[in-house]
Amino acid sequence: LPAYIYPNRLNSAGVDLADPLVREPLLEQLDKLAARDWAATPTVLAEDHGPARPITSPQDRRDVVGSVLEATEADVDLALVRAKDAQAEWDRRGGIARGHLLDRVADLFEEHTPEFLSLCQREAGKTLVDGVLEVREAVDFLRYYACEARMLFGSPMPLPGPTGEENLLRLHGRGVFGCISPWNFPLAIFIGPAAAALAAGNCVLAKPAEQTPLIAALAVKLCHEAGIPDDVIQLVPGDGRVGAMLSGDERIDGISFTGSTETAHKINRSLADREGPIATFIAETGGQNCMIVDSSALPEQVTRDVVASAFQSAGQRCSALRVLYLQEEIADSMLDMIKGAFAAQDVGQPRDLATDIGPVIDEEAQGKLEDHIAEMEQLGLPVMRLGLPAECEPGSYVAPTIIELDAIDQLKRENFGPVLHVRRYKAEDLGKVIERINRTRYGLTLGLHSRIASTRRFVEARAHVGNLYVNRNQIGAVVGTQPFGGEGLSGTGPKAGGPHYVERFATERVTTIDT
Ligand code: NAP
Repeated sequence: LPAYIYPNRLNSAGVDLADPLVREPLLEQLDKLAARDWAATPTVLAEDHGPARPITSPQDRRDVVGSVLEATEADVDLALVRAKDAQAEWDRRGGIARGHLLDRVADLFEEHTPEFLSLCQREAGKTLVDGVLEVREAVDFLRYYACEARMLFGSPMPLPGPTGEENLLRLHGRGVFGCISPWNFPLAIFIGPAAAALAAGNCVLAKPAEQTPLIAALAVKLCHEAGIPDDVIQLVPGDGRVGAMLSGDERIDGISFTGSTETAHKINRSLADREGPIATFIAETGGQNCMIVDSSALPEQVTRDVVASAFQSAGQRCSALRVLYLQEEIADSMLDMIKGAFAAQDVGQPRDLATDIGPVIDEEAQGKLEDHIAEMEQLGLPVMRLGLPAECEPGSYVAPTIIELDAIDQLKRENFGPVLHVRRYKAEDLGKVIERINRTRYGLTLGLHSRIASTRRFVEARAHVGNLYVNRNQIGAVVGTQPFGGEGLSGTGPKAGGPHYVERFATERVTTIDT
């Protein structure tokens, strides 16, 4: 087996919600946790702070989930001093010790699954099914990067030389990483890049999205409980200004960022303008993800996969389907089936197990999506929307929507929510379709439903995307099996959960010894 296949590594089993003996006690625990008041504070406080900011729930703005004390400039400065001091010792511990600690964190995450599920629901508006997937992915990242720590940082790589000299290649941490994360995977994408940075021997200042600091605070607390020193991973909650403080500071050796393409450009500029060491920048960003369906596709399978790809997690996945291309001959019948399945989706409160589509993250996201839908309506494009039940009134909901486009160029940006666009194409124009998709310069996911092997090869050879999914949905990449990430406007790579990711957080050093 290649070295990066870890035969003893298992992906997390998650929680079997279909089993009433598992589900019912879990629901009772979630009921008890529904009133808990959570708090997030910076790991180190350098000065007195003003009042904490309340965090309200997207499913119901009257539910105050907890509060956050946001990091000030002085807090970030002190956190950096402590991280710099702690890094050499953390690096010297070696990959075996660091891997052991990351495995311990994974165990604690599994033990605290109910708290994480409660926070996924209340703070991020996720359904229980999405919450379970989120915790699983977080645990998988931790265990996969623990394996990488042991393999890559365990012992040096000897390299033969013609002169009889001994050459040893070793990997080390680069220094201190700022890990800046989005709200849509508030646990998995908060901890994944941080765990990779830690595995490689770096200290981490972790900045969660301003909407979801509470789940991040629990994650960092469990890292410390597992035995990772407080100065090695520190929480620096706050808004984009805290992220900008990190990217603008010369003491930061690298930034790992997941979020919008626009913010990635800002960080890139800020890193380029700093004096001092040249920082590593890893960015995983947005997409304008398409799916192509030809006349050989299986209609029932397409229907199921389109609805899941576009509307699961209320469309708030970077991988989510935004533009569906249907071959002209089957477009009407396919669209009828998709609209039928779409109409059967339950929009509602995430705490209700029957809910398929929950809220979007906040009023700002809601406003942007509504503006986009209104713009498309003004262009006279056919629009189908689901109704919103009264129970959604106190939350930030967008009625799920299907819009039939005249051209993909009508989309000016990524629309991050439950909105699917549909476009028809002629079979002989498949090459042009792929050219148009490539011209968006995003390159994250692409779905293809076709039973024709030569069509798959044609698409594979031309599409500039990081993840191509054939005859299935295009969401939910599995750590260690489907490394995930895009190219172009969608990110720098390397792929999260893949064999080249952790190495990017490391620097190489070679010792040559003459005999
Ligand atoms: P965002 O607005 O770009 O924010 C991402 C993070 O960057 C947040 O923590 C944000 O802070 C911070 N930030 C904002 N301005 C900053 C600045 N000037 N300097 C440094 N940091 C700054 O993205 P989002 O709305 O949270 O997340 C949704 C986006 O993430 C979508 O575009 C989605 O496609 C993308 N995404 C990509 C992947 C992937 O793997 N490719 C995965 C998930 C999500 P605050 O928000 O707290 O102010």
